[in-house]
Amino acid sequence: MYIVFLGPPGAGKGTYSNLTSKWLGIPVISTGDILRNAIENGTPLGKRVEIYVDSGELVPDEVIEKLVDETLDSEAANKGIIFDGFPRTVNQAEILHRLIENRGSKLDLVIELYADDEEIVQRLSSRRVCPECNAIYNLITGPPKNDSKCDICGTEIVQREDDKPETIQHRLNVYRKQTAPLLEFYHNKAGLKCIIVDTNGLPDVGRDALRKKLLENEVISE
Ligand code: AMP
Repeated sequence: MYIVFLGPPGAGKGTYSNLTSKWLGIPVISTGDILRNAIENGTPLGKRVEIYVDSGELVPDEVIEKLVDETLDSEAANKGIIFDGFPRTVNQAEILHRLIENRGSKLDLVIELYADDEEIVQRLSSRRVCPECNAIYNLITGPPKNDSKCDICGTEIVQREDDKPETIQHRLNVYRKQTAPLLEFYHNKAGLKCIIVDTNGLPDVGRDALRKKLLENEVISE
């Protein structure tokens, strides 16, 4: 099964794609996490993409295509993949379509998350991440148990470079201009299931809303 999570930065794609991964037993690929890890480790890929990621610009499509292509061939992907942060443009959606079709399969589901701008800005400013295992925290609604250390691996949590106030607004603009047209693209795609989930409020509310829609659409069972 192939699932795409769509929505503006801060709508909860990371949080809810990971939950869906647990419910379905299918791994998540977060292109953002892969790129940030490459930057952190100073790899050639990291060096190439750092300037884009830190400033909130989209990385060129051919870089992303290579990453996704390799992931689709990995052992872990044999039951499918949940995509978090990909596709980001209509061109990337067409790339995804081709990559999956080449493997004799199709995209099964698009999950669109939305939240109000005010809430998004607040969430992104208080978001912290673990640079080691990519766990996500929110200093207000979901801080780590032990001060500023990751609950899972004990690493010091950090603020993402692109979650700094000056970059947040730019990322929202990039989303509106380059990614939002994807919503219509997918809604108009015949035979494709699209689920829309309001993630305003605390994570539990969004989790329950998502679970209800997945049950109604028979994507998961009780
Ligand atoms: P995210 O973690 O999904 O918010 O992504 C963080 C940053 O990584 C984005 O602002 C882009 O610079 C880059 N990025 C992640 N996914 C993509 C993608 N599919 N296409 C282009 N750039 C991406």
